[in-house]
Amino acid sequence: MDKFTIARFNELFPDEDACLAYIKDIIYPDGITCRKCGGQKHSKMSQRKAYACQDCGTHVYPLAGTIFEKSSTPLRSWFYAMFLMAQTRTGISAKQLQRELGVTYKTAWRMFSQIRKLLAQDSEPLLGQVEIDESYFGGDSKNRHANKRDGRRGRGATGKTVVVGLIERKGKALVTVAPDVKAATLLPIIREHIPADPGTVVYTDELHSYDRLTSLGYAHETVQHAAKQYVNGLAHVNNVESMWSNVKRGIDGVNHAVSPKHLQSYLDAYVFRFNHRDDSQAMYETMVDQTAKVRDGKQGGYAPLAEIVGRE
Ligand SMILES: [Zn+2]
Repeated sequence: MDKFTIARFNELFPDEDACLAYIKDIIYPDGITCRKCGGQKHSKMSQRKAYACQDCGTHVYPLAGTIFEKSSTPLRSWFYAMFLMAQTRTGISAKQLQRELGVTYKTAWRMFSQIRKLLAQDSEPLLGQVEIDESYFGGDSKNRHANKRDGRRGRGATGKTVVVGLIERKGKALVTVAPDVKAATLLPIIREHIPADPGTVVYTDELHSYDRLTSLGYAHETVQHAAKQYVNGLAHVNNVESMWSNVKRGIDGVNHAVSPKHLQSYLDAYVFRFNHRDDSQAMYETMVDQTAKVRDGKQGGYAPLAEIVGRE
């Protein structure tokens, strides 16, 4: 892994102005053009997170509409939070962030949750050898480690959330919360993300919901867990099972509990890190890039928007 060090972080982002300039460059990759006079030259205003047109004085707010706009937390603290999030596979906790930044727990938690919300998984198709598996998260602590096969028969599955994972043997993953493990739920998820082309093979366990994959045009290999045939040549789902244990360890060790409501954004953040696992600086840059975007394409940059994404 190409390590993005704290020294490098400090060099690139020494202060608030450097962080603001970085966001400005993401939003205006070709530089700011003044909406009033067309002027191209702008300078940073000393008391505001804004730039002013050197010709007519019109103000430009690069943070308008982003999660940073109304936050009283310094921009550099947000950047540092993202730096920390990009450093480890399992992620860090809000508690750790609270200590590192000297903010309240509530602030740390909200920063995390706002950053995570912007790390939605991309929708590039998964190709080649793709493992598919479902798992159960949360619910009654007595049943947390209940056997998956019991869960799928409805025993011990009370209050648990179904999560479906698709993972390329040599590449990216996609993980999504699902209402159940019926064929009518799983097959559309698979068809949306995996093209049934000749170069692609899907591997699943013996859950009947997957039975129709062959008739849908997929090369489909089944792992017979029931027959203790865990690794039958290429027919295994070891990668996705190892991902389940990493995700669950991350939730147990770092987040203690993730409510079903927040589970998808936790999974998005996990998959984001997983898919960028080979380059932590690229991961960090993509993360900042995502957070510089606003909802609904309302990026204006000229004045604070009425609808605030990141109210604190
Ligand atoms: Zn101007």
